Amino acid sequence: MASDIEIARAATKQPVTEIGARLGIPLEDLIPYGHDKAKIAAHYLSGLGAKPDGKLILVTAINPTPAGEGKTTTSVGLADAMNRIGANTLLCLREPSLGPCFGMKGGAAGGGHAQVVPMEDINLHFTGDFHAITSAHNLLAAMVDNHIHWGAASGLEASRVTWRRVLDMNDRNLRSVVTGLGGPANGATMESGFDITVASEIMAILCLATDAADLEQRLDRIIVGYRRDRTAVTCADIKATGALMALLKDAILPNLVQTLENNPCLIHGGPFANIAHGCNSVIATQTALKMADYVVTEAGFGADLGAEKFFDIKCRQAGLKPDAAVLVATVKALKMHGGLAKSELASVSYEALNDGLSNLGRHIENLQQYGLPVVVAINRFTSDTEGEIDAVEAYCAKVGVPVALCTHWAEGGRGAEALARIVTETLATKPAEFRTLYPDDMPLFDKIETVAKRIYRADHVEAPRAVRDQLARWEADGFGHLPVCIAKTQYSFSTDPARVGAPEGHTVRLREVRLSAGAGFIVAICGDIMTMPGLPRHPAAENIHLNDQGLIEGLF
Ligand code: ADP
Ligand code: MG
Repeated sequence: MASDIEIARAATKQPVTEIGARLGIPLEDLIPYGHDKAKIAAHYLSGLGAKPDGKLILVTAINPTPAGEGKTTTSVGLADAMNRIGANTLLCLREPSLGPCFGMKGGAAGGGHAQVVPMEDINLHFTGDFHAITSAHNLLAAMVDNHIHWGAASGLEASRVTWRRVLDMNDRNLRSVVTGLGGPANGATMESGFDITVASEIMAILCLATDAADLEQRLDRIIVGYRRDRTAVTCADIKATGALMALLKDAILPNLVQTLENNPCLIHGGPFANIAHGCNSVIATQTALKMADYVVTEAGFGADLGAEKFFDIKCRQAGLKPDAAVLVATVKALKMHGGLAKSELASVSYEALNDGLSNLGRHIENLQQYGLPVVVAINRFTSDTEGEIDAVEAYCAKVGVPVALCTHWAEGGRGAEALARIVTETLATKPAEFRTLYPDDMPLFDKIETVAKRIYRADHVEAPRAVRDQLARWEADGFGHLPVCIAKTQYSFSTDPARVGAPEGHTVRLREVRLSAGAGFIVAICGDIMTMPGLPRHPAAENIHLNDQGLIEGLF
């Protein structure tokens, strides 16, 4: 089969103005970035308020293998298939980060015959949103350092600055740096470091803001560091919010593109799914719900992280009510959960497959805790055998959950029509009773424990004294109502990536907690969480080049 980039390049794209017209967006409210990308004007977004909402479908997955299980690919395939069977559907995805493109994972615009285009642009600079976020983040860093240079009238202590810098690149050398070397004229000497842009709090803020006014208030609340008496200094104290808003003026508007089958797709924002909530912007989702009867969206990592945060952070904050969850499973990943080595996942093992189904089963139960009907999508790889597929289908029948075999990667939307029919029928016959996992007024530690026990099925949460004291201080300071955002490995329900399947009786150890006051959540870190990835020994970047027609080669 042709490579992703070859398939994407062969697509017959429609002008983005036509895609916009199909959604009913007047020409003057569409801001084209070239022929195949556009932003939707704020004026149009604010006028949508009165329209009724469509149905919201979350695509999530079992705990993945390092290659990914195909959530984005399945989201694209499902949206194309729904449109094929006459269900008016709009897809909402995250913007890919530059870092992983040059590292290992490859693109994030789907794969095979289920992609969004123009894939090179979407994976690289796109409409500049990430560059704007990077600039806004680093402007605040520059203003904080400058504030200290000129005497820190707020009382901010140089040694207590918590605001770091960001860059949309995998660069391990920048994880920890010392700035301001070379004497007083070059600024105060301080420790700092870089995170990848998707880990910026401004990314999370942009994705949770409901409109420009809300964005401004959230930016105001960002904590940049502390005074000697441990009171917080905010972005508002640094007087940076106005300039940040200016830099983010266009980044806040959702981007319109199309699938290979010319169906509309909004791609907007892309926060990390570990220290942030891992889904596209609230503005894009809310806009999409006004413009289509069905909205298909994706959350990062497996359902223990991505879906939990989608429900307990994004839906809670934005008042969204999802209607169904599609759980993507692959035979390969199920065999990994049954103990098969990662190098052997293409070989047939019914024993491993049957053991690994426990991972699928637990995710189904977890999603049902949120009051949603669940549909399983088997994302078929060419190495899967009929017998293996039968075993997964039989398991789903046993636990009473509808399942569809999907071949959209090989065949496009046609290959996900069975899934589309089951999803539309489920939406018509099984009304959701969405509920979050815990109430706002539960103490912060109990919220962490609730997620750990009910989603990860841990027995205990262990936290050092300092962590518990910190949580208590935030409660006293008025942050107790915030949801929690747990950062842990995506490969296991537990905090140990090696514990595949459905581990029980494990312990979750909290290492550190952080307050994202602007985004509006408490980050609880379990284990080593990388907020600035590195490149592998042979990065994908070594194989990327421009050919003599000026086209990009080697990108996926
Ligand atoms: P996720 O969103 O879960 O991280 P993606 O949809 O981005 O996963 O898919 C990860 C990678 O796997 C992509 O490179 C995609 O092309 C590839 N892929 C997805 N589904 C299939 C499939 N059925 N067969 C072969 N490759 C696939
Ligand atoms: Mg994805």
